[in-house]
Formats: sequence, C-alpha cells, structure tokens
Amino acid sequence: TAPTPPDDCIFCKIVAGEIPATIVHASDDAVAFRDLNPQAPTHVLVIPRSHYPDAASLAAHEPGALADLFATASQVADQEGLEGGYRAVFNTGAAAQQTVFHAHLHVLGGRELTWPPG
Ligand code: 5GP
Ligand code: ZN
Repeated sequence: TAPTPPDDCIFCKIVAGEIPATIVHASDDAVAFRDLNPQAPTHVLVIPRSHYPDAASLAAHEPGALADLFATASQVADQEGLEGGYRAVFNTGAAAQQTVFHAHLHVLGGRELTWPPG
C-alpha cells in the first residue's frame, strides 16, 4: 500500500478532483493531464493515483505501476497525434529539477526535441 500522502500534495488533489486540471486520460491506476506550463505543443503529465514522492520510490514499491504509466503515455501520444515521436521522462530529485514530489511522467511532443535536454 502507498504511503500516506502529505496534505498539501497538489497532484493528489488533482487525482481527487479537488483542484481543476485538463484531464486527457484516466484509468484505474493512472491520470493524465496537461501541464500548466507546457514546454512543447503537447506536454502531458501521467501520474499514478497512489502517492509516491518520485519514480524511484514508485519503482521500489509498485514496479508494475511504472509499466502502467508508460502504457498510458503511449496512449496519450496516439491520442495527441505524436506519430513523429515523443519524449517520456521522469525528473527524479531536486538536481534534475523535480519540483512536485508526487511521481509523474512527462510526455512531451509536437515539436522537434533537442538532446541533451540540459
Ligand atoms: P517537475 O519539475 O517536478 O518534473 O514537474 C512538475 C510539473 O508540474 C511542471 O512542469 C509544472 O509546470 C507542473 N505543474 C505544477 N503545478 C501544477 C498544477 O497545479 N497543475 C498542472 N496541470 N501542472 C502543474
Ligand atoms: Zn500526491
């Protein structure tokens, strides 16, 4: 079972419908919604309904949930018409610019993406 989330987790609030978000896909395990500050024409966040602070913690406790998130990312990419490709990335930890500590998979596409990301 997932750890008790902090009361102030913004993504738990989105899962609970307590704050608004533009949801593009929802299943028993995952919710996908548009990023408030998009970095590409498509920028969707795919999150597990359960609260884990980051992808490493999710992997340690519910490894199958990671597969669910990537499968959802693929469905979102189809839905968004990202035939040309997309990036799916977890920022894990402050040095990687993680700012919201509820695990989330970024799905970015709709433009030519650069590498390395910086
Ligand atoms: P991180 O930097 O932790 O990898 O990504 C957090 C992402 O969440 C950022 O891209 C930020 O724009 C997005 N974000 C933060 N607060 C909200 C919110 O309340 N609603 C939505 N839709 N996105 C948010
Ligand atoms: Zn949370």
